[in-house]
Amino acid sequence: MAPFDLLYPRSVDAALAELRSASPGDVAILAGGTDLLLDIDRERIAPRRVVSLRYLPWKFLEWSGDSLTIGSTLPLRTLESDPLVRQRIPGLWEAVRAVGSVALRHRATLGGNLVRSAPASDLSPILLALDAEVEVVGPRGSRWMPVDGFLSESRRPKLAFGELLRAVRIPEARPSAYRWQRVRPVNDISQVGVAVARSPSTGSYRIAVGDLLPRPVRIRPAEEAVRSRPPTDDEMRSAAALAARLSPFASDRRGTEAYRRLIVEVLVRRALLAIQPPALRGSEP
Ligand SMILES: Cc1cc2nc3c(=O)[nH]c(=O)nc-3n(C[C@H](O)[C@H](O)[C@H](O)COP(=O)(O)OP(=O)(O)OC[C@H]3O[C@@H](n4cnc5c(N)ncnc54)[C@H](O)[C@@H]3O)c2cc1C
Repeated sequence: MAPFDLLYPRSVDAALAELRSASPGDVAILAGGTDLLLDIDRERIAPRRVVSLRYLPWKFLEWSGDSLTIGSTLPLRTLESDPLVRQRIPGLWEAVRAVGSVALRHRATLGGNLVRSAPASDLSPILLALDAEVEVVGPRGSRWMPVDGFLSESRRPKLAFGELLRAVRIPEARPSAYRWQRVRPVNDISQVGVAVARSPSTGSYRIAVGDLLPRPVRIRPAEEAVRSRPPTDDEMRSAAALAARLSPFASDRRGTEAYRRLIVEVLVRRALLAIQPPALRGSEP
């Protein structure tokens, strides 16, 4: 591993100034380091300077009515330990708990997961289903954009050099669920991840699927199949079948395309059932 200088700016302006004074290949941004330090260790990147976000005031969790804003450097374990998150946005809580292990979640952050934009991220599908927005700060100030626009087709998020992800906002707490399939339950990357949420204000559903190339996506025809309030069993089955047919899966060493289609159908139905009132839910298939 090539040596590098580790910098700890104490303010956002100081962090942005450090980035501005470097050129792209020479500098890297460090949050929890669970991805970045592996990249450096395996010599995929060789920055001369690493700018740590540790002392920026971004480890916050703020409720405002139904809306939740999460600082980008809040460790996932803190998010998972918040009883209101579990109660009001259960799908987010379930997705956070799907990431790695307890030890990993003490370090890993929501911001790092989103900026990494891995196709198998457990957090991107649920943030899509919750219509989340992200705040990016840079030399020209701050801007908000939907997570859907932030995750690009090129596996690189819409973050210019010199910009930082400050926060993620979930505009409305929603009944939601995250279901996943992987070979090992801990410290493994999922083969399929499915997030479902229902908006209490409009009654509409969001269904997002992960482990797709190049990025997790919403499957809109499946969302539109769930029309009745509450949905019928036929509608939920048809949404699950549409998600299985339309998700652009590929085969890789973690699973074949055919296997993923089979699993996604089961998981979409399970997630839809999980957010119905108890009388309709029965037991998950
Ligand atoms: C053993 C293991 C198991 C894992 N299991 C899972 C899993 O089950 N599910 C899953 O989704 N992921 C998993 N991961 C991936 C990883 O833990 C997550 O992506 C993590 O959330 C990244 O957050 P971090 O704070 O560690 O990011 P870092 O490693 O610090 O940063 C990741 C990238 O984002 C950039 N970055 C970080 N924060 C910001 C910011 N605020 N603004 C701009 N750029 C930023 C960094 O420069 C870097 O390029 C696993 C990783 C390991 C090593």
